[in-house]
Amino acid sequence: MEQKIDYNKIMNKVLSELSGGEKLLLHSCCGPCSSSVIERLSKFFDITVYYYNPNIFPKEEYEKRKSEQIKLISLINNKYNSNIKFIDCDYNNQEFKDAICGMENLGEGSKRCWNCFKLRLEKTAKIAAENGFDFFTTTLSVSPHKNVNWICEILTDIGNQLEKKGFKTKPLLADFKKENGYLRSIELSKEFELYRQNYCGCTPNKI
Ligand code: SF4
Repeated sequence: MEQKIDYNKIMNKVLSELSGGEKLLLHSCCGPCSSSVIERLSKFFDITVYYYNPNIFPKEEYEKRKSEQIKLISLINNKYNSNIKFIDCDYNNQEFKDAICGMENLGEGSKRCWNCFKLRLEKTAKIAAENGFDFFTTTLSVSPHKNVNWICEILTDIGNQLEKKGFKTKPLLADFKKENGYLRSIELSKEFELYRQNYCGCTPNKI
């Protein structure tokens, strides 16, 4: 049986030990999932949202989700006088196709998703390391459909590799659905009138 690790507890310990003003690069899959994460973490970090999601198909859907992400950040910054920043990436669905090659017909929750997480988190970590961020993490664990153990194992592996190379940036292990994070993301999505998609990003017949 898979061991249960309380990643929320682990994150709370890290948060309690921060000195203040640490820079966080937050990979975001979409506006709705990022809403409760930004709300929770903005008390602790100087946040930059990183929108790297080549898995989303088709491009029109990618653009729609991206514009909702930008809208959310703008609404939050206006409402709370905060300074959440945003880094955009060029859309390249081929990067996703290469990462999941041979797994196109596997379902959601399969090894295909592991590769998809890894692709997005490796790129996030690289940008964090190269740009002096103290921490990097992802909003992916907000969703009850995503395997939090996989997400945190990948973050841990990447963090260990970066440490060996002398980089200071660290993964922030988290389970953002905890402490009502998922429910809060639904509430905030309603409050900010965000578009909430009805599929993860790819679909087998659209890859
Ligand atoms: S279902 Fe979602 S997480 Fe899994 S491969 Fe597709 S886009 Fe990625």
